[in-house]
Amino acid sequence: MRVAFVSSEAVPFSKVGGLADVVGSLPPVLARRGLDPTVYLPGGGAGTGYDAGVPVGEVTFSWGGKEETARIVQLEQEGVRFRFLELPDFKGRPVYAGEGDLERYARFCLAVDADLRLRPPRVIHLHDWPTALLALLLRQRRSKVRIVVTIHNLAHQGIWEPGPFFENTGLPDALLHQDALEFHGKVNLLKGALITADAITTVSPTYAREIQTATLGEGLDGVLRLHGGKLVGVLNGIDTTYWNPATDPHLSAHFESATDPGKETCRLALAKEVQLEGPILGMVSRLVWQKGIDIVLEALPRLLELGYSLCVLGSGETGLERECQAAADQNPGRVVFRRDYDEALAHRIYAGSEAFLLPSRWEPCGLSQRIAMRYGTIPVVRSTGGLIDTVDDGVTGLRFECAHPEGLVAALTRLRYGPLVRDTLAAAAMEIDPGWDRAAEAFAALYEGSRTVAA
Ligand code: ADP
Repeated sequence: MRVAFVSSEAVPFSKVGGLADVVGSLPPVLARRGLDPTVYLPGGGAGTGYDAGVPVGEVTFSWGGKEETARIVQLEQEGVRFRFLELPDFKGRPVYAGEGDLERYARFCLAVDADLRLRPPRVIHLHDWPTALLALLLRQRRSKVRIVVTIHNLAHQGIWEPGPFFENTGLPDALLHQDALEFHGKVNLLKGALITADAITTVSPTYAREIQTATLGEGLDGVLRLHGGKLVGVLNGIDTTYWNPATDPHLSAHFESATDPGKETCRLALAKEVQLEGPILGMVSRLVWQKGIDIVLEALPRLLELGYSLCVLGSGETGLERECQAAADQNPGRVVFRRDYDEALAHRIYAGSEAFLLPSRWEPCGLSQRIAMRYGTIPVVRSTGGLIDTVDDGVTGLRFECAHPEGLVAALTRLRYGPLVRDTLAAAAMEIDPGWDRAAEAFAALYEGSRTVAA
């Protein structure tokens, strides 16, 4: 079965967050199950490595009534065809740039649609708002392709002033209607795709329930309740070959269990590398309000009193970066902040921390706690979304209820002085299989049109 994935990011070519991990690692698993996946990505942008592909032609599409062209570069790996559409307004720009994103991702969707006309798949699997326009383009030209839309984070919907949107894309402005694209007088691309799709998935069963409530529905809870019959939560997996503490080339020692000497070597190596004393609380994260780094900073004096050190790797909002830097400046030897995107250091933090913190205000799935668990590091997480589905409190990690420093401090106090045994929790965390097999089975059923999908 031919399945076309369309995404704004995918490892190993480009990555901002978990979406890239998912689109890079699920298609090879589907290919091994006998499906025929193609992944469409924008080419020429911030990503790397795609230039090893070969030019295989070009497509033309109409933008504002004028003809535009995109060159196609193709690369095959692990049974997956990656097709990169080169568009000038992606050149030298980050995956998400804010201004101009509507226009460039709309162009990308138009270019993908032009290619899909020539090589129609049975199923098209769209990911988040940058690819949502495709659902509308496909239905507008009465394509019979089955459309699956996955919500990775409902906080981003692609909301824009109507402006020249309809003129540029060629879609009829009759779609600016509350049962289609319209959202408080604006164009909401994700809403349009959710209404149009044959099936909607999101990345964990709990998040699937949460987004149908006013609290986490981001204004689309009504739409999601209305279309709840076609919405299912399928828990994200991780690439267990890439994230493997027994073979990881970024580590100075390897281990297969929580009590292997290699695990302790990784703890000592991290402490030496980042020059911290005491057991390390690790964080690898985009620095945005969602992730609750401010909760950690507020709890910091008490965490230090408990004897922990803190190591934060991440970048994002300027205010949060500044606060992390200030905490590091004020607590030399106890707090380290690396304002960076550093794949290798991330691996060493996952392997060498005493506990991994994810105090998110909301978390659709969360991959980093799954990675930490695979590396025998105890996740300490807030009870929300996929964190509820992946961390069993007191068994494979620790959970706390409120997005407040008290909860975090209480959880870490339990870990430090309570009856919980670190290595027992870590061993149980490592027992969980975070691979893609179960989700791949669910997607294969969903692509076939099955209504009974194991979540
Ligand atoms: P989100 O998609 O909301 O950012 P996830 O937990 O689903 O959160 O996925 C985050 C992914 O990005 C993980 O693979 C994590 O290791 C990676 N990551 C985030 N920040 C950094 C960073 N600064 N350096 C290296 N990897 C990072």
